Amino acid sequence: MSAYADRLEALVADAADRCTGCGKCFEVCPTAREIGLDAGEAKARVGELLDLARDGGAAADGLQKWLNACDGSARCSDACPEGINVRQWVTIAKMKALDVARPREVGAANAANRFRHMAQAVRLLASMQLPSETLKKILEPAERRTAEILFYTGCNVLRTPHIVLNVMDILDAMQLDFDVVGGTSHCCGVYQFQEADLPTYERMGHRTFQRFGQSGASKVLTWCPTCTKNFDELEKDVEEPFFDLGHISEFLAANLETLKARFVDQPKRRVVIHEHLGIGATVDSIRKLLGAVPNLELVELVQDSGFSYACGGQAAKFKDREQAIHRALAEGAVAAGADTIVTMYHSCHRALAGAEAAYPLRVVNFTDVIAEALGRGGHPDYYRLYKAGGPMDEAVAAARKFLASNGVRVDEASVHSLTADIFNETGLAGSRDSFAQAFTALAKEG
Ligand code: SF4
Ligand code: SF4
Repeated sequence: MSAYADRLEALVADAADRCTGCGKCFEVCPTAREIGLDAGEAKARVGELLDLARDGGAAADGLQKWLNACDGSARCSDACPEGINVRQWVTIAKMKALDVARPREVGAANAANRFRHMAQAVRLLASMQLPSETLKKILEPAERRTAEILFYTGCNVLRTPHIVLNVMDILDAMQLDFDVVGGTSHCCGVYQFQEADLPTYERMGHRTFQRFGQSGASKVLTWCPTCTKNFDELEKDVEEPFFDLGHISEFLAANLETLKARFVDQPKRRVVIHEHLGIGATVDSIRKLLGAVPNLELVELVQDSGFSYACGGQAAKFKDREQAIHRALAEGAVAAGADTIVTMYHSCHRALAGAEAAYPLRVVNFTDVIAEALGRGGHPDYYRLYKAGGPMDEAVAAARKFLASNGVRVDEASVHSLTADIFNETGLAGSRDSFAQAFTALAKEG
């Protein structure tokens, strides 16, 4: 067993030692309820989790169902009277149970396929929306950076790269010494961990985290909620780094006075934040930030914010629940007289960006709002145009220019695959035909 795997074992052993078996974590688990597991059997399920922690081997049936259902919501950790990070425990237990349930090569092949598919989509979408000098800057190796602050994007936000440009604008307006780093060569290794391919995880996610340290940065600001959760629970808790680690929204909220001093007049808006609990203080931070923007009124809506820490990802297996969350949000926002939905994360932004096709609402990310309040931002959100299904001329013209700048060509097969990637995700969207037809025509240009 590697030194890293030993440390994961130590985290699990510590949780098991502290656990009293009260069952509160299982009682509050929203995904256990979603698949029909009985809250009355909480002590039995936790007993099985304790057995797995102490004896290893295969998970008992009931426990295996719980582990499979988990989407990382962290309601369990919040409910634990002993202050145990139950989500972390469940995440490691799930990986270990999977490792004994099938040959490691099967998990390694699954992880490689998932990574390859994601990398292809990210590379193409980023090349359609960003100039090559910006993309190269983001992809440059972390260990070669020299700035005090590293803004770490992760991989998937590059599908909606205007968000990255907004954050760069914000940090720039704050006159900070920062570098931006991300892309698939700096992956957090989530697929490898989820598929129990620990050796490859160590060469990817664990290595990415070490590269942050090699840059000499004193602070690493994360964007992606999954990367934030993984690095927090599978790296920082395993070995304390020399740098501070935290989500960009928390950092901006902590520097609110600096931002407020630079805010300029804004148009009147009534906004609803699409909220997800489960990642640090991100909800409170974004509420604090938006609450300080001139002329912006926060409209309160009761939301299903505890079901998952973000749209998509592990929550994607609960399509009906996600669909209901998206519809209730849009309908609730309209009924409450809001004109804008503000998204927290990129996967939520992708899910909701097409709401404009069906509802009198604008959908923006919180970084759009903050960057614009600083007199910056205004970067076109091409992904929103794809999803809304309206005229595609602007998006195609931009893609033609950026693809040439990046030396990337699209063919009809890749447009077909990208169309499925964009429109098969749960969420609100206009017609997929507008995107498919316009970008197939672009591919035919050769
Ligand atoms: S993280 Fe959420 S979904 Fe997973 S076990 Fe805990 S409460 Fe259940
Ligand atoms: S809530 Fe905490 S102490 Fe209670 S069973 Fe769960 S992990 Fe153990």
